[in-house]
Amino acid sequence: MRQVVMYGPGDVRVEQRDDPRILENTDAIIRLAATSICGSDLWRYRGTEPVDHQVMGHEYVGVVEEVGSEVRTVKVGDFVIGSFWASDNTCDICRAGYQAYCVHRVLMGTIGTQSELARIPLADGTLVATPGHPDAQLIPSLMAASDVLGTGWFAAVAAEAGPGKTVAVVGDGAVGLLGVLAARELGAERIIAFSRHADRQALAREFGATDIVEERGDAGVARVKELTDGLGAHSVIEAVGTQEAMMQAIHSTRPGGHVGFVGVSHDVAIPGDALFMAGIHLHGGPAPVREYLPELIQLIWDRRIDPGKVFDLTLPLDRAAEGYQAMDQRTAIKVLLTL
Ligand SMILES: [Zn+2]
Repeated sequence: MRQVVMYGPGDVRVEQRDDPRILENTDAIIRLAATSICGSDLWRYRGTEPVDHQVMGHEYVGVVEEVGSEVRTVKVGDFVIGSFWASDNTCDICRAGYQAYCVHRVLMGTIGTQSELARIPLADGTLVATPGHPDAQLIPSLMAASDVLGTGWFAAVAAEAGPGKTVAVVGDGAVGLLGVLAARELGAERIIAFSRHADRQALAREFGATDIVEERGDAGVARVKELTDGLGAHSVIEAVGTQEAMMQAIHSTRPGGHVGFVGVSHDVAIPGDALFMAGIHLHGGPAPVREYLPELIQLIWDRRIDPGKVFDLTLPLDRAAEGYQAMDQRTAIKVLLTL
């Protein structure tokens, strides 16, 4: 099969690799209907994280091609979606809704899903079948559910977005934009999106943003305060993972409010005194996307949400390198790879 491999920073290739096989009785093999490039893949592309001949990708939708002898809930021919952590969905941590921290979890990025086929561990716990085979136009939205929608959704839940709340969203990448959509679906009254790019601002508005703030850092915080009678937002989503973004999120939150942080943290250090004086709740980390998949799939299936709009560039798998380049240069929000 063909698979994307990152040889080193900035060096993405598609090469021929052996087809995956069932290794455990709880595995399934899926044939991907599409795959995608994640903002978090860029950390390695830019050399911020080490990379050496790494198979890439952790987002996937596809059709089950083979199952191990102990797999019960999905069968050959099912169209399925899973998250970037494979999880058993039965341990105490999973049952509490934190499947990203499953005691048996497997990180899909170590297996790679920017490929024609993929082995999915813990298939019963990990994969959720759609109600039927989707129309082609639903594929991008279902693909978004595999990570960025589920992650944005968790961020909005962690930030306690809901009726009567003002929600601010730091980050205008796919996760931030879908955090806007999630906040709207959860009933937020007002949604402030930080963005300085016209195309991303337009998508944020389409997803439910009521206000756009172009300033960043302290100036951005001041603008949120102006918009909220000097108080700050009730709920703030942090979807970047840098020091500036995290502090912008904390300082944009009113006392007693909540920050949901899902940007993969890189050298973020929160000063204790700033945290102490902020009087806020902080919750986040890798999102338990699996927890939300059944609900998100249904919303997409019923055509109530269209998160697939975050994919603004579609390329065949063989041109993955161009996709990485486009996301790195921010000429694309998110890239769908077709097979
Ligand atoms: Zn578990």
